[in-house]
Amino acid sequence: SKPSCKWQRVLLKVSGEALAGDHTQNIDPKITMAIAREVASVTRLGIEMLQVAIVVGGGNIFRGSSWAGSGGLDRSSADYIGMLATVMNAIFLQATMESIGIPTRVQTAFRMSEVAEPYIRRRAIRHLEKGRVVIFAAGTGNPFFTTDTAAALRCAEINAEVVLKATNVDGVFDDDPRRNPNARLLDTLTYQDVLSRDLSVMDMTAVTLCQENNIPVVVFNVTKSGNISRAILGERVGTLVGG
Ligand code: UDP
Repeated sequence: SKPSCKWQRVLLKVSGEALAGDHTQNIDPKITMAIAREVASVTRLGIEMLQVAIVVGGGNIFRGSSWAGSGGLDRSSADYIGMLATVMNAIFLQATMESIGIPTRVQTAFRMSEVAEPYIRRRAIRHLEKGRVVIFAAGTGNPFFTTDTAAALRCAEINAEVVLKATNVDGVFDDDPRRNPNARLLDTLTYQDVLSRDLSVMDMTAVTLCQENNIPVVVFNVTKSGNISRAILGERVGTLVGG
């Protein structure tokens, strides 16, 4: 019998921070290659109907909120620069994936037709059905939002079953593990836990969108080898929110 999987369609969120690793130049090619290899390893298992979409962040290059106000830069303009940063990451990740034979399409939330396809929901779904990895870039296309919110939004739009949030920590802790050595890693959480205890999973807009649409979120450590494939295959990894 064919191998099976908990999910059929997943939305992997890769933050800019995750892409940067400890590289001094914004993107660590070892990390993009590691991500590509892990995605390849699961999509090549021959699991029928296992589809992977990706939302990339841009914080490794430009984060609108931290630049707004500098040199007269208003928040909206800063956020447009931030969204452009996600396109750079998307193209890098696409090139890496295609270099090892994974068919991909990049779709941007605002038009850059010479560079990538515009976001067209039905077309994105068609690509997924054909076994292509779809990378969503430029966030939601709107300032004042984040790529976590874009991940929740695209997940809901394309009827993906889960947001897999790749981070640099093992999951959600009850306190900051960098300051408190006794901080405990939490296995499961409700959306309400996240919102009321202000746990740093995703921003509130993203959490609320997931809650309203019953989208579980798995927060896991991308720097540990094998974790992306585990998360995609629905194995227990990191912290499960909702679900
Ligand atoms: N951004 C935006 N609207 C969106 C998504 C992103 O304006 O829908 C901008 C915002 O300035 C943000 C930057 O793009 O700081 C990079 O995205 P984000 O900070 O979410 O990336 P990550 O933290 O995942 O690296």
